Parts: sequence; structure tokens; C-alpha cells
Amino acid sequence: MKEIFVQLPGQDRSYRILLEAGLRFRLDDYLTQVCPNPRVWVVSDALVARLYGSGTVALLKNRGIQASLLTVPRGEKSKSWPVLSRLVCQLLEQGADRQSLLVALGGGVIGDLTGFLASIFMRGIPFVQVPTTLLAMVDAAIGGKTAINLPAGKNLIGTFHQPRLVLIDPEFLLTLPARERRNGLAEVIKAGFIHDLDLLEMLSGPGQTLWRDRQLRNRGLLAEIIGRAVAIKARVVAEDEKEGDRRRILNFGHTVGHALEKASGFKIKHGEAVAMGMAAALDFSVELTGLSPAEASQGKELLRSQGLPLRPPSLSREEVLGALQMDKKRQADHLVFILLRRLGEAVIYPKAPLTMISDWLRA
Ligand code: NAD
Ligand code: ZN
Repeated sequence: MKEIFVQLPGQDRSYRILLEAGLRFRLDDYLTQVCPNPRVWVVSDALVARLYGSGTVALLKNRGIQASLLTVPRGEKSKSWPVLSRLVCQLLEQGADRQSLLVALGGGVIGDLTGFLASIFMRGIPFVQVPTTLLAMVDAAIGGKTAINLPAGKNLIGTFHQPRLVLIDPEFLLTLPARERRNGLAEVIKAGFIHDLDLLEMLSGPGQTLWRDRQLRNRGLLAEIIGRAVAIKARVVAEDEKEGDRRRILNFGHTVGHALEKASGFKIKHGEAVAMGMAAALDFSVELTGLSPAEASQGKELLRSQGLPLRPPSLSREEVLGALQMDKKRQADHLVFILLRRLGEAVIYPKAPLTMISDWLRA
């Protein structure tokens, strides 16, 4: 089993990330370790609840743990006030108190929503992340950021609330549709681009066909790849919990990515948008930070070979630029950009000209 310790200052804030195939069947052991005698509520979306909800609750009950399942609709729209307040009411009706423990069983939507709920319910109760999408395993479940959306935009309300434990079982991915796998894969590749050349080599070598195998037969390699991506996110967020400079390198590919996502009305999935954003950032890195053209091509080839897009479909250039203008990190006609000096080494570039992006969109 792979074990990563996230050490943060303060009481009850450090936690372990455990990774191993089949770990979901030992959730009872690990829950009782972080929280003796817990009264547990497992939060899931409708699909994940159908696949794994009753099994998880039964496992806990067999151990003598009082456990119940709370289900919300699938999708981003569940990160909302109405869903949140319904969950609060259900917890109260069912007798939850300060000693209760929440388990987020699902993708990033469930992790963000449950983490936020845990952070405000009775001024904060503990929670555990059990991510079931690749994106949540390598990204959303780690770092303690929680959020819900508002009509005015995504993730506008949230907290920092660290989980007591993150339990990653790659076997959840057996049921994850290909497009969702690719969505998470973009963040795995990002981790390699910013910090881990070996991870990139694994992905372009033996890992290249891994994701096309629906049975995910090479579980050892799968765990190794996920573990490396997790370790990078865990290390960066432990060094910089609340998004100072260091954490910004995790935004590689995200400046253009977010703008594309927004301009498409969120029809382009996050991972696809980030892949295109990374392809752009590879090009910009050649011009601005001395990445060699050969490395940029190698990077783009990796994205392509994993089934990720490199160029946006016909989006309105004005809309993409409009979305970029609203970027929080913009100053006049420059943007703070995360670029690469070489594959595996990111740098913060404070003044990338906006014209470069508009040229890229035109190309
Ligand atoms: P998601 O939670 O909506 O899951 C995607 C889909 O996969 C859902 O329909 C879900 O029902 C289904 N699913 C989940 N696990 C499954 C499984 N094992 N088998 C079959 N189907 C399964 O989306 P996501 O991509 O996991 O997460 C996106 C969210 O994460 C966004 O809201 C984003 O803002 C958030 N996020 C948060 C952070 C953070 O640091 N807190 C970081 C990145 C993303
Ligand atoms: Zn992302």
C-alpha cells in the first residue's frame, strides 16, 4: 500500500492519503482509526450511490458502525445552496451531532460539497474523502479546498477544511466511463509536466494503453501513476495551503483552459479544456521560457496519444478572450502564466502578453 502523509500546522489537520486496489473493502478499519466509535453519514451522487453506496454502508454496519447514506443528484448542479441546505436538514433530522463523521464517496462534486457541509455543520465536523473518479483521486480530494457554486460563477463560496483521511481505491475506476477517465488523465499529465519527468515517461511508454483497457489489468502501474500524481499535489498543497505562489504551479494549462471551458458554456469538460490549455502553454514556453521545440512536441504528442484534444473546436475568439480578461491574475494586457522551463519543471511567468493567446487562438 502506498501511503502519503500530508503534514499541516495545527491540531487535527494532518492526514494520511492511502492508496491501494481493494481498499474500499477496508474502509471500516480506517474510519475507526481516525474516529473511534463514529456515527457515519456517507454522501454520494445518485449513480455512485447505486454502484457503491449500499455496499459501503453494509460494510460499516457489519462492523457495528451506525451508518446511513445521503444521496444527491448527479452533476455540478448539486454544488448548490438548495442541495446543501437539504443535506443539513437531513443530518439534523437523523440526529447528527458534533461527533458525527461524513464520508464523501464520489467524484469532485461530492468531495467539494461534502467537505463544505462538514466545515459548516455545527461549526465543523470531521470528514473523509473516498474519491471515485480519477480527477477526484489525483486532484479534488487532496488539499482541503471545498466549495459550492453560485449562479454568478463556480466555486464562489467555500472553505478550507482538511479531510481526516483520503482513501484511494483505483478499482473504482473500473466503472468510470472513458470520457471521465480522460478528464482525470489531463490532471495526471499536468502533474508530470510541472514536476515529474518519470511520470511522463510512464504515461508515454507502458501507460499509453493502460486507460484503453477497460478492465485496467495493469493495476500495479495504475497505482504507481496515480500515486505519483497524488504525491505532487500533496507536496505542493502542504508547502502552500492557501494558494500563495507555490500552489499556483498546479494551474499549469488552467488559464487558457478555464477560458475555453467558460466560452463553451461548460460543454467542453474541464480535463479537455486543460489539455488544450497545456498545449498552448507548451507553445508559449518555447517562446518565453526556453522549452525546446522538441520537448513541446513530445508533450503535445503525449496529450494526443491519450485521446486528449490539442486545439479548441470553433469557439468564438472574442468570447475566449473575454473570459481571459476576467482572469483574476490579469494585469492590464498581461497575464501571470505557468510555463515550463523543461518537461518536469514549471516556472511562474509574471507577464505573458495577451496578444500571444489571441494569436494562438487565431492560428
Ligand atoms: P463528478 O463528481 O461530477 O463525477 C463525474 C461523473 O462520474 C458523475 O456523473 C458521477 O456520477 C460519475 N462517477 C463518479 N465515480 C464513478 C465511478 N467510479 N464509476 C462510474 N461513474 C462514476 O466530477 P469530477 O470530474 O470528479 O469532479 C469535478 C468537480 O471537482 C468540479 O466541481 C470541480 O470544481 C471540483 N474540483 C475541486 C478541486 C479542489 O481542489 N477542491 C480540484 C479540482 C476539481
Ligand atoms: Zn484542474
